[in-house]
Amino acid sequence: MKSTNPVYTGLETSIFEVMSRLAKENGAINLGQGFPDVDGPEDIRRFAAEDILSGGRNQYPPMMGVPELRSAVAEANKRFYDLDVDWRTEVLVTSGATEALSDCMAALIEPGDEVVLIEPLYDCYLPLLRRAGATPKFVRVTPPDWRLDREALAAAFGPKTKAIVLNNPMNPAAKVFDREELATIAELVVAHDAYAICDEVYEHIVFDGREHIPLITLPGMRERTIRIGSAGKTFSLTGWKVGYVTAAPNLLDPVTKAHQYTTFTTPPGLQKAVAYGLGKDDDYYESLAGDLQAKRDRLAEGVAGTGLGIVPCAGTYFLTVDTGPLGLDAADTAICETLTFEAGVTAVPVSAFYQSDAPRNFIRLCFSKRDTMIDEALERLARWVERRGEDPDA
Ligand code: PMP
Ligand code: GLN
Repeated sequence: MKSTNPVYTGLETSIFEVMSRLAKENGAINLGQGFPDVDGPEDIRRFAAEDILSGGRNQYPPMMGVPELRSAVAEANKRFYDLDVDWRTEVLVTSGATEALSDCMAALIEPGDEVVLIEPLYDCYLPLLRRAGATPKFVRVTPPDWRLDREALAAAFGPKTKAIVLNNPMNPAAKVFDREELATIAELVVAHDAYAICDEVYEHIVFDGREHIPLITLPGMRERTIRIGSAGKTFSLTGWKVGYVTAAPNLLDPVTKAHQYTTFTTPPGLQKAVAYGLGKDDDYYESLAGDLQAKRDRLAEGVAGTGLGIVPCAGTYFLTVDTGPLGLDAADTAICETLTFEAGVTAVPVSAFYQSDAPRNFIRLCFSKRDTMIDEALERLARWVERRGEDPDA
């Protein structure tokens, strides 16, 4: 038989799927894959259900998305970031942020282009880029401070740079890029006549009074930036896969061409319900971040109580935990397996987000879970650490 294309088929199954399966098989509490264990607002779900059953038609909606959602995305850009957006020419609806990322890379990248990536990397970036023929140029941030080194970033840019992919707030680092860092990125993008593909799915999940600053709002970036959002994280509906892209027409047009040959459309009832959701009042958005901040604190305090190290977390669903204090002579992947088997708690190894020379003893825990789940996971962890203390060779 002839070979398949190795770019995707040569890779292992995604770490998120692997860890979720392992959790299920072992009856462990799954703090690995990032999804809430309670569905998002009932009124949004009801809106979709009613639209599907009685209101709208369940046939192909317009290729770029239903006007209700495209205009709601434009309004949200104005409301949250004071960004003026024309919904007719500057907003596209996609089947999740993942499709949007795929469309951007298919549309912008030509073989031989270089693309700057900041490790740790969300899982789909590199395969999508490689499939498009790009050469990746890596810059890294590492725990515990996840500091972006200006010189290293500048060195990754060159005459062949087509784009940078920026995940802000960043999964799994839980880093929220500040204005100074963003200004550095913007300066380099402009200087190299490049584009920025901004994955901002956690835009509304930032903590401790921080502000999420979209790169597109920085001087010189309006025409160069593609900003991607997702209803999955904003409304705790990760299974819906409704994403949205905001970009100037010169960038949105090519992305739309890729979209029309990828999924073409996204379920119309879900789109209308997300449009309704985006119009929710400030209380909704404040409690989304506030509730998750409280969960972060609950998990962080409990984990710290077991003697494990805690890495600061400024946003997203994820807490990075330093397993170093346990004194285990094992890499993070093995530790995550052991935790699943022995403690009954599943995490994701942070090394999965790096290509090589990854930090060795950091694991990612997802806290978008019911308090009872977090507490149960903490009890299990504490019991396991205690058992190890009594019998380190066990
Ligand atoms: N980017 C990042 C950084 C993510 O964590 C996720 C998972 N929500 C996605 C993209 C994918 O988003 P979606 O489910 O909307 O495709
Ligand atoms: N974004 C989720 C995470 O980081 C996973 C989504 C997926 O499984 N593709 O855990």
